[in-house]
Amino acid sequence: MARRKFIVGTNFKMNGSRAFLQDLVENLNRADLDSNVGNEEVHPIFISPPSLYIEHVRQNLRKDIAVGGQNCFWKSSGAFTGEISAEMLKDVGADYVILGHTERRTLFKESDTDIGLKVVHALQTGLKVIACIGETLSERESNTTLQVLFRQLQAIIDHVQNLDLNQEEKWKDLVIAYEPVWAIGTGRVAAPEQAQEVHAAIRRRVGEICGLEVAETVRIIYGGSVNLGNALQLARERDVDGLFVGGASLRPEFVQIYMGAG
Ligand code: PGA
Repeated sequence: MARRKFIVGTNFKMNGSRAFLQDLVENLNRADLDSNVGNEEVHPIFISPPSLYIEHVRQNLRKDIAVGGQNCFWKSSGAFTGEISAEMLKDVGADYVILGHTERRTLFKESDTDIGLKVVHALQTGLKVIACIGETLSERESNTTLQVLFRQLQAIIDHVQNLDLNQEEKWKDLVIAYEPVWAIGTGRVAAPEQAQEVHAAIRRRVGEICGLEVAETVRIIYGGSVNLGNALQLARERDVDGLFVGGASLRPEFVQIYMGAG
């Protein structure tokens, strides 16, 4: 079975400006990335600026790095003031979209069902999806981590399994991001073995519901306080298929994180 291709992605959140992003793009354009980059099929590296800047970034960034959005709605168009559709993201050159990030779930009250609907709509539109799941500190401390993750996962899987496609087609553009809420923006990263334990459990669960083939091929990436100091150790874990970088992706060290872990 083909080895899962390691992927490193970013989430800039609501940060940056045109000038800031132009500097960042130029830094990436100059970077001597290894031969992992350049595979159009896989796009092992992607960056996610605020949607307003996607088109500018896409036009100026080297083509072997993918660009993604941080959210989109589950309808194509209509009276949804302030929303952006998957079609619009695609139209301005996005390849990816992040869905179900904890900040969307908590600050913007997105439910598991909302996220399931968004995931299938984005997949149907032809975007690759980074679907995020994660437990809070109190959920971890009360030993409900897997219960919470499996509930969030189930809502995504239920919607994806309903697509009228074969298993491979349903899953080929879907990446699961395990992002423990207590690790996001806190500097408190999951220990590599903690991440591995959860990733393996997620993979087992996917296997139980969708079959071994899907479980073995789906990429599960880790996010939450990833930085240059911890990236390599996390990346060495068997079931960690990539890293999802927030704060550190706004700093030049992102290139080194990619080079070290990718
Ligand atoms: P962080 O963010 O790397 O700043 O913890 C990760 C994320 O929110 O995806």
